[in-house]
Amino acid sequence: MKVALIGVGQAGGKVTERLARFDAKMGFGAVQGALAINSAKSDLAGLEFVDTTLIGADRVNGHGVGADNELGTEIMQSDSQQVIDALDGRITSSAEAIFVVAGLGGGTGSGGAPVLVHRLQRMYDVPVYALGILPGRNEGSLYQANAGRSLKTLLREADATLLIDNDAWHEQGESVEGAFETINRKIAQRVGLLLASGEAVEGVGESSVTSKTSRTRGGAAAASVVDSSEIINTLRSGGVATLGYASAAAAEDSAENINTALTVSRQALLTGTSLPDATTADSALLIVAGKPDAIPRKGVERARRWVEDETGSMQVRGGDFPLESDQLAALVLLGGAERSDRLEAFMERAREAKADDGSDDDPTEQFAEDRLEDLF
Ligand code: GDP
Repeated sequence: MKVALIGVGQAGGKVTERLARFDAKMGFGAVQGALAINSAKSDLAGLEFVDTTLIGADRVNGHGVGADNELGTEIMQSDSQQVIDALDGRITSSAEAIFVVAGLGGGTGSGGAPVLVHRLQRMYDVPVYALGILPGRNEGSLYQANAGRSLKTLLREADATLLIDNDAWHEQGESVEGAFETINRKIAQRVGLLLASGEAVEGVGESSVTSKTSRTRGGAAAASVVDSSEIINTLRSGGVATLGYASAAAAEDSAENINTALTVSRQALLTGTSLPDATTADSALLIVAGKPDAIPRKGVERARRWVEDETGSMQVRGGDFPLESDQLAALVLLGGAERSDRLEAFMERAREAKADDGSDDDPTEQFAEDRLEDLF
């Protein structure tokens, strides 16, 4: 799937950089343009694979907004034309979707990303998705409250919001910086593979992109190669999307990989997911990546049926991603996955954090059904 990526804030910029770099190194050609936007000048320094734009200079003079996401919203509202101008020529007619990437707990990305999504929705016909990073449990209450409001507003504005929980994709016991590094690398690889899957050709690396017609000429195996429209259709449910990933060593012969296909698919959804414990979904896409000869049709079909049972969705698409690799990997994209305990627990943390910050003057307000206000 050809995409334009726009990172807002520190985490947004760093993750966008990693995604653009991964895509370029792999020669996939899925990332058509990448831009990082920030109100903090220092956070834009050192980004090499993305173009950069500083916003809010008249308000905060390049020093950022701290964790004030309302200021992040205001700055993006007043400078959105500058951002739109910077995007000119970067979102070409070849882009099939736009992703706005941000950490939801801070200020610039948390407050700015929903505004930008809103503006882009009115300018482009292609879907505008958010890739949002949720703060981990141990991050402070201001981060939880910020992320709650940002997520609420993104869910209203974006065609779908792919959530990565900062508690999900790192090892136990890592330092915060070490964990960010691990998470960012995994986002780049996993989301990068998802985007590239709709672009894949056999013998990846030689040529990055080819048309669907030439891809389907390859016979039975090629006929089931994932197409961008399958990603877009899976995300059409809207709401929260999640991505799961797992891989294992593959045998040369596909017949020996039937169990492996099932195992990696289960792991991707149950333990390798970007939002733990979210398995109920409106739609799903199971992508099995590996050497074409190593991908077992029977195993993939069994895994697809297992995903159907586990998610309770009748809309489970499946497809291959031919990749020159000794591994067999499964990517499971869920659409409409907001009915999860994990997300409910997060929203509760966000509401409590909001109530604790003293800004709720009306004591009965905390019993209202939804105490989180939209950002705009
Ligand atoms: P902003 O620059 O004001 O948008 O703020 P940040 O991007 O620093 O957002 C803060 C949130 O993003 C917090 O929840 C952080 O835990 C998270 N965050 C900051 N940097 C990174 C990063 O490099 N990787 C990941 N995964 N999360 C990050």
